[in-house]
Amino acid sequence: MATAIKGKLLLDGTGGKPLSNPVILVEGDTIVAAGTADDVPVDPEAQVIDLSDKTILPGLMDAHIHLVGLKSMEDMAELIRTPPPLSALRTTVEARRLLEAGFTSVRTVGGPTAIFLKQAIEEGVVSGPRIMASGRSFIQTSGGGDPWDIPLELMEIAASLGRGLAETVDGPVECRKGVRRRLREGADLIKILTTGAVFSKENPPTRVGFTQPEIDALVDEAHRMGLKVAAHAHGTEGIRSALLAGVDSIEHGTYLDDECIELMLKQGTYLVPTFAIFKRVMDTAGDDVPEYAMRQGLQVHETHERNFLKAYRAGVKIGCGTDFVGPPPIEHGPNAVELVYLVEAGMTPMDVIVSATGGNADLLALAEKTGTITTGKLADIIAVDGNPLDDMQTLLNVPFVMKGGEVVKHVSD
Ligand SMILES: [Zn+2]
Repeated sequence: MATAIKGKLLLDGTGGKPLSNPVILVEGDTIVAAGTADDVPVDPEAQVIDLSDKTILPGLMDAHIHLVGLKSMEDMAELIRTPPPLSALRTTVEARRLLEAGFTSVRTVGGPTAIFLKQAIEEGVVSGPRIMASGRSFIQTSGGGDPWDIPLELMEIAASLGRGLAETVDGPVECRKGVRRRLREGADLIKILTTGAVFSKENPPTRVGFTQPEIDALVDEAHRMGLKVAAHAHGTEGIRSALLAGVDSIEHGTYLDDECIELMLKQGTYLVPTFAIFKRVMDTAGDDVPEYAMRQGLQVHETHERNFLKAYRAGVKIGCGTDFVGPPPIEHGPNAVELVYLVEAGMTPMDVIVSATGGNADLLALAEKTGTITTGKLADIIAVDGNPLDDMQTLLNVPFVMKGGEVVKHVSD
């Protein structure tokens, strides 16, 4: 027996025209029909979920998060000290919070435990979003996120214990071996860093990382195994190297130039600007944020928005991701702020909705399963008061969440 969901307005995640008075029929975990009340007859026996005062959308997706159980931003080395089982337990709370905030799928791009959290969610042990996980990302020795204040010998021991956001590989041979290790662990994609980072004390965002042969080896090996590659890249040279190797998405992309934009258009590469992390960190400017991170954040911000807009207007595909890591001010929950920021940065509200749903589904390699409210897709459905096309802030308060046909949250008014 089907469940019928009745709404006031439907934004189906394809970018098509909003539909008034929609009815969505769900059988098991799947959408079997979606359309206007006239087009979709409802069996009188069907269970009806009445959301007729709400806007219905596909479950949101965050294309760039870290689920690592980190408690403070002050010291990234805490990630090395924290035993992975403790991190994993902490992330179960974050996973539930993400799901209740309307995020039915996420992509985790760095950190050791999300691969196992994903398994636990799929087994039904804990509740959370669908996860596409990269496992630990790849950097070269000394690269963005390699804490220089910890002796290299200790970092190598930590790495062998599976700890840390990233794993160090040097030279094409180690790069290929690293990708094969990730594959063996169960990674869904590969994450690499080709430049320094805003939150790296020693490596400013413009500094280059891997050599071209190393990036080529990482990307070629990943693609041979059928895995996409996400490249963290700020500086122009690092972005270009990643694009020349054929990565599938550029994360951040601060110093994109015209040549990079051209390559992205030609290769269909996504740009995931992750405004949320920079904005939240700068707006909060709390004591928790290290001074170097504040300074570097402010330095990149203006250029970032300008180059993003150039890429968007040229037609580059935009992914929606926050880069939230866990501790305040970048705690999981209000991840929909990225949609607000993307509108502020110049995207149309409809493009932003598509980016966070159908578009992200493509980026996450989930488009055949979910991302739009269309026949045959998994019933990942949310509903909000008001119309996000008029006010994106409405997505920060999601009273109804269904994942795979199961109602995980329904706050009635
Ligand atoms: Zn990140």
